[in-house]
Amino acid sequence: MKIISINAGSSSLKFTLFELPEKEVIASGLFEKIGIDGSLYTIKYNGEKIVKEVPLPDHSVAVECLMNDLIELGIVKDLEEIEGVGHRILHGGAEFSKPVVLDEEVVKRISKYNELGPLHNPANLLGVEVFMKKLPHAINVGVFDTAFHQTMEMDHFLYPVPYEWYEKYGVRRYGFHGTSHRFVYGEICKYLNRDDLKVITCHIGNGGSITAIDSGKVIETSMGFTPLAGIMMGTRCGDIDPSILEYMVNKTGKTIGEITNELNKKSGYLGISGVSSDSRDIEAAVEQGNERAILSQKMYIQKIANYIAMYNNMLNGADAIVLTAGVGENSCLSRKLILENIASLGVKLDESKNDFRGEFRCITTEDSKIPVYVIPTNEELMIALDTYEFKMAE
Ligand code: AMP
Repeated sequence: MKIISINAGSSSLKFTLFELPEKEVIASGLFEKIGIDGSLYTIKYNGEKIVKEVPLPDHSVAVECLMNDLIELGIVKDLEEIEGVGHRILHGGAEFSKPVVLDEEVVKRISKYNELGPLHNPANLLGVEVFMKKLPHAINVGVFDTAFHQTMEMDHFLYPVPYEWYEKYGVRRYGFHGTSHRFVYGEICKYLNRDDLKVITCHIGNGGSITAIDSGKVIETSMGFTPLAGIMMGTRCGDIDPSILEYMVNKTGKTIGEITNELNKKSGYLGISGVSSDSRDIEAAVEQGNERAILSQKMYIQKIANYIAMYNNMLNGADAIVLTAGVGENSCLSRKLILENIASLGVKLDESKNDFRGEFRCITTEDSKIPVYVIPTNEELMIALDTYEFKMAE
């Protein structure tokens, strides 16, 4: 069965077409600069990469191009072959704790949470609307970044602020990257043949979050009300003293919005190093002795290590730690530094096992108190599999 996984952004649309249950990727691609000059798209199929520069005034035209190309390239004979469309949706609030079949009424309910994810949710839902029109026969399923974390208990999701903020305005920890944390947790459970594992999953990419999971239930996760909280990231600050906001507004005359934008886009690795948000560039600058890059790397690693140590305590001892996403899967140096910084937990890196990228492997010694695994994440596949399950249950 062919299922397409969609991640629609405000000016982009990413897709992966799967054959399920075989988990085979038939085609994938990206539409960029939708509604902006210089729009283009890329389709990868059969080991080839096709790039087309065409006007893409809106998402509807992008999806039209995609459908035409799928037929023209012979990827599908008939659009009816695509039986399901899985959509990544950033925010489902506390209401959506699982993937859900989408119809107009459900989309309306989800749109209530647009104000909690203003950069992503409206675009995600626009993608849903377009696919409902273009592939009316297919089942549409929404898979939320926030859903997996909705198993958190109140003492873990509440902030110690006036209780009415939560009651009246929904101020609480929601958590993000849930699809990735759920995917790698599922992989480690399958591998170790257990479903009661206590695992600390570390999604460390350009954005990053760390989650403590016990028997499939999220105990706590490092991102919060928005994806700005938690560990230091590529351009995001992570946890800081909230009083800094008012102080900086007063000092600079900038608005809260402008300061928040700097916390989102000009902080983290980029803000401290002044070099880049990308750990590859940081590693290169560290190698050249750049002081601020060295400082930024120390801070980055410390924050991750501290969250792991805190979550190990919360879980009363984790059975495993999983590293995933761009940095976790590919940066041998970051992995080494993280593990050195959690040596107090009895974690021991086996250096001979750490020199690789993008594979499922254990990187610790036999006698490491907690084994550490690198597991490539695959949110697109998870979204497609969720969609497939609904289709099979129809
Ligand atoms: P993601 O957001 O999961 O796509 O991760 C993207 C980030 O992964 C990049 O910004 C880099 O910081 C990091 N990354 C990817 N490949 C490497 C690599 N080979 N070495 C170090 N960092 C990497």
